[in-house]
Amino acid sequence: MSSADSDHHSIAVIGAGVAGLMTARELTARGVDTVVLDKGRSVGGRLATRRIGDARLDHGAQFFTVRTEEFAAVVDDWLTRGLAHEWCRGFANDDGHPRYVGTAGMNSLAKDLADGLDVRCGHLVFSASREATDGPWVLTLDDGRSITSDVLVCTAPVAQSFSLLFETVDGLPRDLFDADYDRTLGILATLDGDPGLPEPGAVRDPSADVSMVVDNARKGVSPVHAITLHASAAWSEAHWDDDPDDLECALHDLLAPWRGDATVTEAQVKRWRFATPRRTWPEPCWVSTQHRVVLAGDAYAGPRVEGAFTSGRAAALAAHTLLG
Ligand SMILES: Cc1cc2nc3c(=O)[nH]c(=O)nc-3n(C[C@H](O)[C@H](O)[C@H](O)COP(=O)(O)OP(=O)(O)OC[C@H]3O[C@@H](n4cnc5c(N)ncnc54)[C@H](O)[C@@H]3O)c2cc1C
Repeated sequence: MSSADSDHHSIAVIGAGVAGLMTARELTARGVDTVVLDKGRSVGGRLATRRIGDARLDHGAQFFTVRTEEFAAVVDDWLTRGLAHEWCRGFANDDGHPRYVGTAGMNSLAKDLADGLDVRCGHLVFSASREATDGPWVLTLDDGRSITSDVLVCTAPVAQSFSLLFETVDGLPRDLFDADYDRTLGILATLDGDPGLPEPGAVRDPSADVSMVVDNARKGVSPVHAITLHASAAWSEAHWDDDPDDLECALHDLLAPWRGDATVTEAQVKRWRFATPRRTWPEPCWVSTQHRVVLAGDAYAGPRVEGAFTSGRAAALAAHTLLG
């Protein structure tokens, strides 16, 4: 099929989080015609940043670490261009490992990765199928339009990838699907003063009801004090179906010990259904040569920003090989 026949691309990537963007960057750099589709209003997925008044708050990933040379090269470039900075080297104590943040919020780093790519936001992929076993992938969007591709890379969370592909692709990694994801409930709150959180402006305790509480001003992201609080996986699971007003009250109660003498001026509740994969697949992506499809994302290379980065790069290589 030629590009004159329809909206056809060599590779279509579902998801413009870090994994999908890295897949598209690597392929585009190799001259492969690649389109990225995301249902969100903006790129980034779980690299999410919100404005509330003058405040800027990260509400998904709060920081990232660097373990591989490949990611270090990208992070060095962000540091040089002033897009990222080192925030701290640990929470209760200095463990020597740098934690980095996007200086204009974590989402700004996703925007940087998306620069120059064919990324289409507001495009929910409603179904993915192949009319013939050797035919192209046909992606139907929620507005009824379709996009076709020779190879498909799906970086949506595992359950969402499965719901798109299970009728067409056999042998999907069932163990990952069964393991599911931890949920995260959180609250973003602007304050009228300094909450006085201990160094480095955050407390992290995955064993408590509050897994993380961060002052975005102390992180160097917000010009004014503004807190992101994430409840633990267990608390989030227990309160997921609460009435919205009850949930907001319960989150304010969790926040109360962390805001010092400051008063909350505005607050928003945030929900992440697929926050953290409970299992990591042993390979950085899953490939079906028969179906010309690759699954990628943080469930394949570790539940963190760098895991998504590593998986996205591996998916690009696999997709390039499938193209032949
Ligand atoms: C609350 C929270 C805190 C975290 N804290 C940290 C941290 O401090 N440090 C760290 O390193 N990591 C952290 N993480 C994890 C990190 O954010 C993720 O590992 C990483 O961002 C995952 O990237 P991804 O590309 O794999 O997936 P995602 O970012 O989830 O991207 C998947 C994309 O697919 C899109 N999509 C899904 N279905 C469809 C469809 N049908 N059609 C079109 N688009 C679709 C979604 O809109 C989404 O944009 C945190 C995550 C959460 C939620």
